[in-house]
Formats: sequence, structure tokens, C-alpha cells
Amino acid sequence: MKRILILGGGFGGVYAALHLEKRLRRELDAGLVEVSLINRDNYIVFQPMLPEVISGSIGLVDTITPIRRLCPRTNLYTRTIETIDLDRRRVVAAAGFGSQQLSLEYDHLVIALGNVTSFAGQTGLAEHALPFKYLGDALVLRNHAIHVLEEADIERDPEMRRNLLTFVVAGGGFSGVEAVAELNDFVRAAARSFRHIDPTEIRVVLLHSGKLILPELPPSLAAFAQDLLMKRGVELRLEARLGGATADGALLASGERIPTRTLVSTVPSGPNPLVAALPCKMDRGRLVTTPHLELPEHPDVWAVGDCALIVDARTGEPSPPTAQHATREARCVAENIAARLEGSALRPFAFKALGKMGSLGHRSAVAEVFGVKVSGFLAWWLWRTIYLMKLPGLDRKIRVAVDWTLDLLLPPDIVQLRTDRSIGLRREHYEPGEIICEEGGHGDWLYIVVDGEVEVAKQVPGHGSVPLRRLGPGDCFGEIALLGDHVRTATARSLTAVNLLAVDRDAFQALFSTLPPLRDFVSRLIEERMAPSRAADAAAGSARLMETTSPRG
Ligand SMILES: Cc1cc2nc3c(=O)[nH]c(=O)nc-3n(C[C@H](O)[C@H](O)[C@H](O)COP(=O)(O)OP(=O)(O)OC[C@H]3O[C@@H](n4cnc5c(N)ncnc54)[C@H](O)[C@@H]3O)c2cc1C
Repeated sequence: MKRILILGGGFGGVYAALHLEKRLRRELDAGLVEVSLINRDNYIVFQPMLPEVISGSIGLVDTITPIRRLCPRTNLYTRTIETIDLDRRRVVAAAGFGSQQLSLEYDHLVIALGNVTSFAGQTGLAEHALPFKYLGDALVLRNHAIHVLEEADIERDPEMRRNLLTFVVAGGGFSGVEAVAELNDFVRAAARSFRHIDPTEIRVVLLHSGKLILPELPPSLAAFAQDLLMKRGVELRLEARLGGATADGALLASGERIPTRTLVSTVPSGPNPLVAALPCKMDRGRLVTTPHLELPEHPDVWAVGDCALIVDARTGEPSPPTAQHATREARCVAENIAARLEGSALRPFAFKALGKMGSLGHRSAVAEVFGVKVSGFLAWWLWRTIYLMKLPGLDRKIRVAVDWTLDLLLPPDIVQLRTDRSIGLRREHYEPGEIICEEGGHGDWLYIVVDGEVEVAKQVPGHGSVPLRRLGPGDCFGEIALLGDHVRTATARSLTAVNLLAVDRDAFQALFSTLPPLRDFVSRLIEERMAPSRAADAAAGSARLMETTSPRG
């Protein structure tokens, strides 16, 4: 029996399994061939519809389809792949409930692992920017947008309100433009349900490094999209590059800082680390294939989708990383594996893209289909019709059609799902001179300095801010307020660029109450730290005493 193993359950992997099931149906039924697929999740995400999850015009689970239903003859392993050994022809995936890893051997391997979100080299983005690639990202972004509206509704400080009501999206490609259009529509419509938010207070900004957004489209369509977004209140910042982020700001490469609590970055994608580790020919992190989609140094190992660099036999150009191409490459690889099993000739990959489309929300889109440019309502209708047809699974098609119909009639849903209850630990980044936590504020987090320098200071009447200590890598702060349910007794400010690990109150108290050495360490630390603080208070007290006694005396 020949074992065909597919890695990845996105467009490349799932469509390869689908086509193999059709092409090798008899062999599969006779037990001559086996098709297996390993993916982290048991579903495929229809990414072109992901932006609509932000606004809620499509239900969260309606953009995904269970792989088992789509590919009933394929063995699905819902596991995380850990190693690919091309010499031993073996793939190892993480253990499930038990402690045993899963080890699978193959005769043919199809690598379809896509690429990954990568914020490498951009300070503060991993900690504070919201990525937009996976289903979970869309849910987090939607919940976050509702959360900041909730906060803004009750916030009195005008500066903080502005910060909360500013939404920044970086990246003027298809996913950035679609995300900003949906986010803009959603927050402006949802704001009507908040008594103390005036929709004119909302600022939605799109950052794009080029002169014109949507560089994949003809300039006239890109200009149409720009005008439309601006009319709807999106502030376009062209030739502006995102340089970094902090907890309350987007930092542009020019040095400008846009105060915001919502920064979405659609720009970064890096090679999947599993793919990057393979001893194969690469081009910018993508596996270079032959025209038949096979790896030149490894016969019977094939690659498709975003993780592969596939030169189109018709144009001689590398195929772009789109779902449209991944599904065609999947069909080609299925044909070629079947041909190899049958001993017939392989065919090179060639595909002429049918067109490009981008939704602009609110019944408008831009599209170039078979070379014809369309914009506005007609393009939007085309967008919806084509993507509805392409959405895998009849049940999903029906659900999405119902979602769209209801969306025309009902106001946007503003229920905030608390998905972050179990977080406990997060990373934070600060630029020099930023306040990390402020004296008098409520203490909900313990901070551990990963790198950089932090100054802790206390306000002493008559003396202003008195520095108490400087902290470096390995030091922690914030424990006094956490343990005593107190307000912060001092202000912590970054002296340099600082990276921190923040532990929330529940996680800290769980550790504190169950780990005696930690309890002893923290108690000693508090004792040491309270001493100079008490001395500062005593000094302030005697200074006050002198001030109050001297005029009389
Ligand atoms: C928001 C957004 C909108 C888009 N819109 C469009 C559009 O309108 N039209 C279009 O043509 N393209 C669009 N794209 C691009 C398109 O989605 C991708 O080109 C396509 O998904 C690539 O398919 P793939 O199978 O190569 O990779 P992916 O779809 O990324 O699939 C890779 C799979 O491998 C799995 N995986 C990775 N590592 C592991 C591991 N270690 N263990 C187990 N599983 C693993 C992942 O979980 C994933 O399921 C969009 C992309 C995004 C992010």
C-alpha cells in the first residue's frame, strides 16, 4: 500500500486531499493507497471571509468547515507537527492526551504548511499588535473592539477616550484594506448603542507604506477604494511605515506616535519554522519546487501553497501566495502523485488567475475579473456570489447566506465574549520614558523585567518625584499592590526600551499561595522595599511638620 501524507489543512492541503480522493477513489476503496492529513485544527478556515467576522456579518464558525466532512476518505490527525525527517521519510507530531508523540511514515509527502505571522525585528509588535490571519485573530479583534468601546463609554479623561477610540490598521494590501473597512463599519455602527460615545470621536487609521493602497490592483481601482474609504471616515496615512508599538501607541518609522489601544498589523508573515528548518533549496523562506511541484533534491516530496515557490510554466513568474493558486496547485499535485503511482507523465503547473477582488464593506468592493474592472455595488455582489460559491460545504454556504440576509435587517451584535480569562501571563514592551504603572492606580499585575531598565519613584509632597530604585533584567515590581489589594505605592517608568513579563493577580496569587519559596522571597522583597518608601514618607512627614510649624514659630 502507498501512503500519501499531507502536512497542513489550509487551501493547499485540504484541496490536495479532496483531489486525491477523487482521482484515486478506486485505489483508496481497494486499500492500495492511503491518504492522511495532519493539521493543528480539525477545520479549514475560509480566509477571504475572515474580515467579515470582525463586524459579525458572518458568524464566527460559519467561515470554517470540518475537514472530516470535506474529505471523508482521508485519515485526519488533529495534532501539531514537530519534525519532518526527509531522510527517514517520517513526520512526528506532538503528543495528544497521552504522552506518546505521533510518528507517521510516508511514500509521498505533500508539504502545505502555509506561512506564519511573524513580528520579528519590530519592537513591541509581538506584545501589543493584533495579528490578522487565523480564526482566533478575528475573534480577538472583534472582542477587543467591543471592549475598548465599553471602556470609552465610561471613561472621563479626554486623552484616554481619544486613545481608546482610535483604531489603527497597518498594511494596505487586500487583508489590511478589508480588515480596516469592516472594522470602520463595525465600530461606527456599534457606537450608536453606547450612550456616551459620539461616533464623530472615532478615528480609524490605515497605514500603508506605498503611495496607493491595494498595489495588486490597477491604479484606477485602488484610487476608487481610497476615495471610498476616506468618504467613510477612514484616515489614510500613505507612505507611512509601522516601526513598533507600545501598550498605548503605534510607532511610525518616521518617529511619529499615534496614541491607540487597538493596533492591527496585517503586514508580517514569515516562513513556517518547520519549513525553514528543512535542508532544501529555499527562496525567501519558500520551498523551491520543480515545475511539477516536487522538491528537486527529494523525489516524492511535493510542496504547494504559500510555503512553496512555484514558477508558473506559462508565464515563467512565481505564483502569488493566494488561495486561488493554492487550490490549483493542490489539484496539480494530486494529478502528479497519481501519475507517478501509475507510471505516466507528470504535468507542469500553469494557471491564469481569474481575477482579483477586495471587499470594502458596506455593500461595496473592487474587482478585476477576466481583465474587466468593476467597482461599487456590482463588484460587491460579484464578490459575495463568487466567494459563496467557493466556500467549501453546502451547510456552510446556507449558513453564510442566512448570516448575510440577517445582517441586512438587524443591528450589529455587540456582545463581548471574554476569551482572555485564563491568560495569566503576557508580554509588554515600552519605549524609553513611558509610564508602566502609576502611583495611586489599582495594582492588577506583577511585572518581571526581561530586558532594559526601569525606574521606580514615589511622589513626596514638597520634594516631587523621589527615585526609589532602578531595576534591570530579572528584577520584579508591582508585588506590594498585588498582595495587599492596595493601590500602587510608586510609579514605574521605563528608562530604556523595556520588555516585561506581566503576571496577572489570579495567577500570581495562585503561585504565591502554593509555592512556599516564592512566598518567602516575595515577603522579604516587600520588607526590603517598604523600608526606603517608609523613610521617604517619614522625611516628607518631618518636612511637612517643619513647614507647618515654622511660620507660627
Ligand atoms: C485575512 C486574509 C484574507 C485573504 N483573502 C484572500 C482572498 O480573498 N483571495 C485569495 O486568493 N487569497 C486570500 N488570502 C490568502 C490565502 O488565504 C492563502 O494564500 C491561503 O490560505 C494559502 O493556503 P495554504 O494551504 O498554503 O496555507 P494556509 O491556509 O495558511 O494553511 C496552512 C495550514 O497548516 C497548518 N499548520 C502550520 N503549521 C503547522 C504545524 N506545525 N502543525 C500542524 N499544522 C500546521 C495551519 O494551521 C494551517 O491550517 C487571504 C489571507 C488572509 C490572511
